[in-house]
Amino acid sequence: MPLMSPAAAILYVVATPIGNLGDLTPRAQAVLKSVAAICAEDTRHTRPLLAHYGIDKPLVALHDHNEEALSARIVERLRAGESLALVSDAGTPLVSDPGFRLVRAARAAGIQVSPIPGACAAIAALSVAGLPSDRFAFEGFLPAKSSGRRERLARLAGATATLVFYESSHRIEESLTDMVAVFGGERPAVVARELTKLFETVLDGTLDSLLAQVQADPNQRKGEFVVMVQGAVDDEAAQIAEGRRLYAKLSEHLPPSTAAKLAAELSGAPRKALYGQSSS
Ligand code: SAM
Repeated sequence: MPLMSPAAAILYVVATPIGNLGDLTPRAQAVLKSVAAICAEDTRHTRPLLAHYGIDKPLVALHDHNEEALSARIVERLRAGESLALVSDAGTPLVSDPGFRLVRAARAAGIQVSPIPGACAAIAALSVAGLPSDRFAFEGFLPAKSSGRRERLARLAGATATLVFYESSHRIEESLTDMVAVFGGERPAVVARELTKLFETVLDGTLDSLLAQVQADPNQRKGEFVVMVQGAVDDEAAQIAEGRRLYAKLSEHLPPSTAAKLAAELSGAPRKALYGQSSS
């Protein structure tokens, strides 16, 4: 009789709610019901979520401290044909959460790793911030100490993409204070707090005004936060736009080479970016 090889197992990376229990997608529910076991960052946290959906599965605790050691054993189970799920305490695993070592090990072993997408605080926050979102840089948590935090922020000060940070109630005020110091108080920013929960708040304004609001109201320092800061103005792009505008005007009265020279001098833009360009 031919040997039956076990069905190819899948490691599902499953997003769970970031507050509102209703945000576990129907597909996530179906997958969690179908797998042999669920690897969870904190089983005490995941059990009530599963109970809410009537899901009864063995849980394997997989967190930052045991992930490296446990990954090989979990990969063995997958190799033996058991499909498994990975969840974290909230939102999408691997986003400021454990899981990357397990996913790396599973992929290296040729196991299919399949995402079950859903809530993610960074993306939820960005979707309601009203800041430019065509380019954004997810920076996760800043260092806990002010010196390290300011150093990290200084490296980001010239970045032109919208910056997205995670922050906790312990440090929201200190982090905003450091952002004002490094980015300047005038930078537009948004603080999204307790998304999908009872006290959801999304504040926008300059960094100065947001810090003042957080300092004035103790409630604005409670809960979980995503802080988004608009990127630095792209100086070169602004200079070129101004240079082209000047060139278009000046070239109505001057030879093109003279108009380009003057426009470059006045705007600071490189001359070759202006010469022969129209303002449109
Ligand atoms: N994996 C999660 C995700 O997909 O968003 C993030 C986990 S990270 C350990 C937890 C941080 O995410 C919190 O400190 C906070 O910065 C942010 N966060 C999580 N839930 C949030 C919520 N409901 N509102 C605002 N921020 C939240």
